[in-house]
Amino acid sequence: MANGVGESILQTFKDSWGSIEEESLTILQKMIRLDTQNFGEDGNETLAAKYIKELFDNAGVECSDILEAKPGRGNLVARVRGDGSSGLGPVLLSAHLDTVHAPTENWEQEGWKHNPFGAEIDEEDGCLYGRGTVDMKNMAAMSISVLLFLKRHNIKLSRDLIFAAVADEERHDAKYGAKYLVESHPDLIEADIVMTELGAFSNHLDGKEFFPIQFAEKGACLIKITARGPGGHGSVYHKDNPVVDISEVCVTLNKQKLPHRLTEAAKYTIWEISKLLSWHKGMVFRTIMSPKIEPWLMEYLLTEEQANVFGPMLHNTANTTIVQAGDQVNQIPSTASVIVDCRVLPGITVEQVQDDLKSVIGPEKFKAQDGCQAKLELEILANGEGFAQDPNEPVLAGILQTLGQVISRRSGGSPIAPYLLIGRTDQAQYMCHPKRKPICLGFSPVRVPDSIKFSTLFHGVNERIPVDGFKWGLGVLAESVLELCSASLGK
Ligand SMILES: [Zn+2]
Repeated sequence: MANGVGESILQTFKDSWGSIEEESLTILQKMIRLDTQNFGEDGNETLAAKYIKELFDNAGVECSDILEAKPGRGNLVARVRGDGSSGLGPVLLSAHLDTVHAPTENWEQEGWKHNPFGAEIDEEDGCLYGRGTVDMKNMAAMSISVLLFLKRHNIKLSRDLIFAAVADEERHDAKYGAKYLVESHPDLIEADIVMTELGAFSNHLDGKEFFPIQFAEKGACLIKITARGPGGHGSVYHKDNPVVDISEVCVTLNKQKLPHRLTEAAKYTIWEISKLLSWHKGMVFRTIMSPKIEPWLMEYLLTEEQANVFGPMLHNTANTTIVQAGDQVNQIPSTASVIVDCRVLPGITVEQVQDDLKSVIGPEKFKAQDGCQAKLELEILANGEGFAQDPNEPVLAGILQTLGQVISRRSGGSPIAPYLLIGRTDQAQYMCHPKRKPICLGFSPVRVPDSIKFSTLFHGVNERIPVDGFKWGLGVLAESVLELCSASLGK
């Protein structure tokens, strides 16, 4: 890959770049004002998809119809064709158009400084406020602008660039967005590289800026634990009450972590982060990989925020979410159950997670004894696997190097750090493409000052994006695309 290609092309259009930044900001504002909250089965991403289609149609960018798995749940796929000279498959930029909830009225009472659907720019802090500003209509606006820029200036690419604007990401069983495209329109989104959330946002460690880029993510497994008992009348003593058994499960899972499990993805992440620290601090930080030292480090050395990031990298997690028990106030129920939201490290099997849970709750409780049935039963309700790619594999390593160079050039030398995400994104869906398994990366660039904790903006009150940081991200994304697609100026 020729380094600096993207930089020199953008330099050629330096005079017009300012208006592209403003246009992109306006696109983002317009999309924030379109209410696309995800209400589970119901949503209205088609509003935003139609708006994007109009932009592409007007500019002559090749674009699909609105693709709906269900009315209202619109997806859209656009493409700028390359000449194929690189022999490489397309680069796919993907952004989900749905958002989590935010108040549509009385938002001040809920702590919002500006209307979550107003897309106002705060003059004091220079941030654009609104639901979806970082999660992730910013990536949609940036991607749209990059495609418009390529088309307007007739820039030649050596491979195709695709942009997928997708519905339905913000819930655990999302199926009307990326999953639907992978299953029903795989040809439209077949790609070598997928770039979407969560990565390339500035983070600060020890006062130094760096940019995490996601290369691995945890899976999610929903497990139901059920307790059974004889049931009976509420007026007498009951030793065997399933409500109590399930309550004990909840308390235990809250107090005790599942066992420490060091995966290759976590090891790589911790090494990369440790390299950003001074030699001494880096050495101490790496001892987090020891199951004996980890609890001590979490307790005494890391901040609560750091412990919340690195702890789940080293453990499967189990949070109890939905408890169901009796329906009569005067009757001891014969069953009680709890749903456990397990987040599973990449490479760990469902059987291993079950073993982890049982080992913490007490394996004997899951065994039938003395002719009596087991106290507790465990059932897998759903399982979505995580994934880990090898950052040392030459193709991925080359891509990371290119992205790292772009970020470094544009940030005055800040490094990247490939990392394991403890949450979930659409990347796991794209990994299931029936014809081609792409390299998937969290890459939705934005620069934020140290004073803003980026992670708190996601799904949070006062979600916002610094306008300067958004424009910075647009430049990084444009340059990265130009590099990855070995762009050149057309005649
Ligand atoms: Zn998101």
